[in-house]
Amino acid sequence: MQALVLGGGLAGLACAYELAKAGAAVTLLEKEAQAGGMAHSMRVGPFTLDHGPHRFHTRDPRLWAHLEEVVGAENLASRDRLSRIYLRRRFFHYPLVATNVLRNLPPHVLGRALFDYLAIRLRNRFRPIPDDCFENWVLKRFGATLYRMFFGMYTEKAWGMSCREISADWASQRITLLNLADTIKKTLFRPKEAPRTLVSEFRYPREGGVGTIADSYARHLARMGAKILLGTPVDAIFHKEGRVTGVTYREAGGEIRALRPDFVVSTIPLPRMIERLDPAAPAEVLGAMGRLRYIGIVFVYLEVGKPQVSPDHWVYLPEKHLTIHRISEFKNFSERAAPPDRTAVCAEITCKFEDPIWNLSLEEAGALAIRDLETIGLLKPGQAKPLHLTKLRYAYPVYDLHYRENLRAGLDYVKGFANLQTTGRQGLYRYNNMDHSIAMGRKIARSLLQGEEMDHHKIAAGHEYFG
Ligand SMILES: Cc1cc2nc3c(=O)[nH]c(=O)nc-3n(C[C@H](O)[C@H](O)[C@H](O)COP(=O)(O)OP(=O)(O)OC[C@H]3O[C@@H](n4cnc5c(N)ncnc54)[C@H](O)[C@@H]3O)c2cc1C
Repeated sequence: MQALVLGGGLAGLACAYELAKAGAAVTLLEKEAQAGGMAHSMRVGPFTLDHGPHRFHTRDPRLWAHLEEVVGAENLASRDRLSRIYLRRRFFHYPLVATNVLRNLPPHVLGRALFDYLAIRLRNRFRPIPDDCFENWVLKRFGATLYRMFFGMYTEKAWGMSCREISADWASQRITLLNLADTIKKTLFRPKEAPRTLVSEFRYPREGGVGTIADSYARHLARMGAKILLGTPVDAIFHKEGRVTGVTYREAGGEIRALRPDFVVSTIPLPRMIERLDPAAPAEVLGAMGRLRYIGIVFVYLEVGKPQVSPDHWVYLPEKHLTIHRISEFKNFSERAAPPDRTAVCAEITCKFEDPIWNLSLEEAGALAIRDLETIGLLKPGQAKPLHLTKLRYAYPVYDLHYRENLRAGLDYVKGFANLQTTGRQGLYRYNNMDHSIAMGRKIARSLLQGEEMDHHKIAAGHEYFG
């Protein structure tokens, strides 16, 4: 059996790993020079850098065992997460913790929040508010004041669009707590089975950043004889009578090569995969794919001349007067990520591909990040300098009010191919986490090997807000 995996992120690597382990001949095509996709790490001078904060958590014991099998239990450390929201010159724990909110909010804001919450609950009894967009979904459950402070402000800043134009799916997939009363109950009296957002423990590689997971897969794959071809973007996917008959890719030198796999698992962005089909997909499918939009992230890394900027793994910055929307500090994930006397901070700026921000240079983006961190008092003048810049074009799928029907058109079309599957965060246009991508990749491998039924949506339904 000749298997071809498109994309070398965690979904593609996990799928290739299970297939190779079962004895299949596997080739994986990855367009970048290294595997790992969103979850790869970089070494810049003495610093190890990730694409923003990456914490691995799962409820599935089989996935923990799998992670240990791939990375080695001795190479994984457990961490207690600290992540906060900086708002009104104060740090609020995220996920929200009732005692911390009560302590930090001035009494008049607290009073208004409570009043708004009771008012919206009452209004909802007589005139039910539909779950027809992100704003209404959260408003109805938390009231106007808390919605604006902790959900609306950040989401509008990160997405660059009104929360009324964002699908309620975004909220229902990412916010576990049902409403304000639930938040208070669950954080004052922690339940035995805490919702995913409240789980503070996570695993992280002791060395090499989160990318160690992908590097470990790649090492096992090479040992098992799988071919991982890096710097080889997929060029075209040929098909006939509902079957993929061949795939071409471009080598680093520009030469086009062809493969004839028995089946193909694609983990590259769904619209980009469908656009590569030859003969071309029907116009209405291509049109729907063109309407699936993405938000990109510019990551600017700063070198800081002190041992620590904050104790947090990451901090959200929802206020609009700040350009960056989140910072993370990898030394808090692993002390080996930076030398003892220095640290590196990653600042994220979300934007669309066509925005001027996308084209900022390291110096320009670095200056913006330094200014913001000085404004909120985390840096003093002269403490930091720009270190590195990276960009992710397909960082967040935009769940606008029409994404479902557009996505459905693409997924239904792909279903018509007997030997082509699409999966992972990019392949399903799904805002999911590393554990979901790994689980989906493994599951698709098993389904191909054993004819099991697939249920991507169940796997990707782990809940977490902000991510
Ligand atoms: C800022 C940020 C923070 C995150 N934090 C967390 C976290 O704390 N915890 C967590 O669990 N998850 C987190 N995630 C999500 C996690 O990174 C992803 O869910 C996971 O890495 C996705 O893996 P994937 O393989 O599905 O997709 P990707 O990693 O996107 O892999 C797709 C691969 O396809 C390749 N590709 C694209 N086009 C082509 C082509 N034409 N030919 C060949 N290859 C191609 C890409 O280069 C890429 O390597 C975060 C994501 C982001 C962006």
